[in-house]
Formats: sequence, C-alpha cells, structure tokens
Amino acid sequence: MTDAVAAGLSSTLCVHAEDDSRAPGALDSPLVLSSAFHLGTAEQSAAAFLGETDAYVYGRWQNPTVAELERVVAQLEGGAGCVATASGMAAVSATLLSLCGAGAHVVAPTACYGETSRLLRERLPSLGIATTFVDDATVAAYQAALRPETRVLWVETPANPVLAITDVRAVAELGRAHGAVTVVDNTFATPYCQRPLTLGAELVVHSATKGLGGHGDAIGGCVVGSDAQLASVRRWVTQGLGGVLSPFNAWLILRGIRTLALRQERACHTAARLAQVLTEHPAVQTVRHPSLPTHPGHDVACRQMTAFGSLLAFELVGGIDAGRRVLDRVRLISHAVSLGDVRSLITHPASTTALNMPPEVRRAAGIGDGLLRLSVGIEDRADLLADLEQALG
Ligand code: PLP
Repeated sequence: MTDAVAAGLSSTLCVHAEDDSRAPGALDSPLVLSSAFHLGTAEQSAAAFLGETDAYVYGRWQNPTVAELERVVAQLEGGAGCVATASGMAAVSATLLSLCGAGAHVVAPTACYGETSRLLRERLPSLGIATTFVDDATVAAYQAALRPETRVLWVETPANPVLAITDVRAVAELGRAHGAVTVVDNTFATPYCQRPLTLGAELVVHSATKGLGGHGDAIGGCVVGSDAQLASVRRWVTQGLGGVLSPFNAWLILRGIRTLALRQERACHTAARLAQVLTEHPAVQTVRHPSLPTHPGHDVACRQMTAFGSLLAFELVGGIDAGRRVLDRVRLISHAVSLGDVRSLITHPASTTALNMPPEVRRAAGIGDGLLRLSVGIEDRADLLADLEQALG
C-alpha cells in the first residue's frame, strides 16, 4: 500500500459522521417515516417548490433519515454529495440514464455485475445507448474502445465475481482527457478498501445492500460525487424513475455503517488468510484474491486499495460437480447470493448471478463452471477454515 492510500477509512468517522446534524438531543439517527411534510405558509411553500429552500416537501423528493444517510456516505467516499436509491441497480440505472441519451456510448468491463451487464447489453441499446465491453479491463483496453461519442467509462473493481482489478486513476485520466465520466461501482471494495473519488473518478455507485449495510436486512443503493454530476441523477431518481430509498432501509444502512470499518477490517484479514490457505489446498485449482502476489491486479491493488477486500473466488479441481458438492456440504457458510454480510456467503456464479450472461460472455469474463465466490463475514477465522476444510473434503 502506498502512503497516499494507506490512511484508510476512519472507524471514528463511521461511528460519528453527522453527529451534529441531528434533532437536538438525539444521539442516534431518528427514523422519520412521514411521506409528506408541512409546507408552512403559502410563501414558504412557493420558495420550497422553487428550490430556494431545502425544506422537506414530499418523501419521494427527500426525507430527513435518507438525507442523513446521504451525507454520511458522501463523507465516507470523500464526495460533495450522494443520492440514495431503492437498490444498487436503481443507482446503476439512474446513473447511466442521467449521463447517456440516444447516440451515447459506454465502455464497460465484460466482468461486471450480471444485471449491470444485462442492462447495458439488452435494454439500453433500444434507447440508442451502445456499449463496448472490454474483456481485459486495462486502461489500454478502455482507450482502444473509445469513440467520439463515449460518455461513460464504467469501472467495477474488484469486479464481480472474478475480482479483476482496474487502475482507477489511469482510467479516470483517460476519461477526463476524452470528456467522458468515469463511474466506479465500489460495492465490492466499500470505502474501507478504496475511495475512487480520491483516485480521480467522478461518480461512485454502491449496492448499499452489501458491505455498507452489512447485515443482510436492507436493499438500497447510492450514487456519490460532485453536486454538479449528481443534480441530474437526483432528478431522475426522485422524479422520472422514482426509485427512492425507504427511510427505514436508510436507517438500517446508517446503523450498519457505524460498524463498517470494524467489520471490514476483520473480514478482509480473514479473506486474505483463507485465500492463502486455499492456494495450498489440493482440491483447489486457482484462487483469486487481490492480496495474492499471483493475482494479475495485485500491484495496482496495492497502489489504490487500503485493504484487499472481503471477497475471494476459487475454482475447484473437478469443475461443476466439485463446485456443487461444496455448496451442498457447507454448514456454517451459507449458500446464498449477496455479499458484504456479517455472515459468510458462498455462491456459484455460473448458476446464479451470471446465469443471464450468454455462455461466451461468461467465459470471456473468466467465470468458469466450477468457480465459487466466497463473501467472508465476521465469524471466527478458525470456524470458517474448518467449514471449508470439511466441505472440500
Ligand atoms: N453492483 C454490484 C457489484 C453488485 O454485486 C450488485 C448486487 O449484487 C449490484 C450492483 C446491484 O445491487 P442491488 O442488488 O442492491 O440492486
């Protein structure tokens, strides 16, 4: 890790962000469920509708609990602002639709979240938005894919599910030189491991369902960046698409964030240790975790990440059958999609999250039939190791 990124995310900030902005006397975030707010006098309501005040009007436009989450996430990512959304996919779709109109072009990695890939591949072309997918998400590949009409460089690093690493600083420089916006899906890393805005990216999206919330109890998403970039995303989310976050989910995610650094520190250490142990296991063919010197993105990860993340992927000797056997045998580790949870979760991308991808796209994304993805939780490392050992048999 270089000094520039070694500082890491402060646990104190996670616990105390926005302490001073609450209702007087409230130590923790109040949950405000009101769908409409008193407009005051006719003059005050006119000012609110003209955007001259930031008074709360209607829950789809803004809500105090959601607004607090937005301020906290903006602070964690080092952004000027944040727009919270109903899910990670609401954040992804609102971002793309606000940045791109008919005739626009996007460059995205072949190995990205399956639904993001499907949106770019199957839905956006019908709106006149084209995407070039790069198999090898290097800056050279992004450069080769540029067109005069390229509006967005979409980056996911580490990428779902093979944990490929992209050099955010280099891609963001390329984007700036070309007049394209670099957007990083930071779901896998969380701001504990990586803060793309500090590396030059203009927007960050999250599935807050994952590491930010961290407890597997709330679906949510967010987009973070400068106020100028976010204005159009907010308009789309609150007016056109309507995919706003519920106050209750905002409250759950806020509570999850208080322990983000603590959870991630533990999970990232355990993940690196499990990755190491698995590399020596006879039942395992390959292991992917950015902490491993054998990982092709290890050097870039050392430069841009403050920790290597809580996810790892491994391909078993014996392919699909061996993979299925492990899924059937795990006891402590849950066979479930999602990630970034306090519980460890294992999935088989080829039959779940990557199922919608055409087989040739799956292969290009490096998703082998026997690839398993493990999201490491905060359980005791010895117990996780024992469970993996018995499941690998
Ligand atoms: N981005 C990434 C990297 C994801 O892994 C996911 C979901 O797994 C999403 C976006 C979508 O998030 P959500 O399920 O909250 O809509």
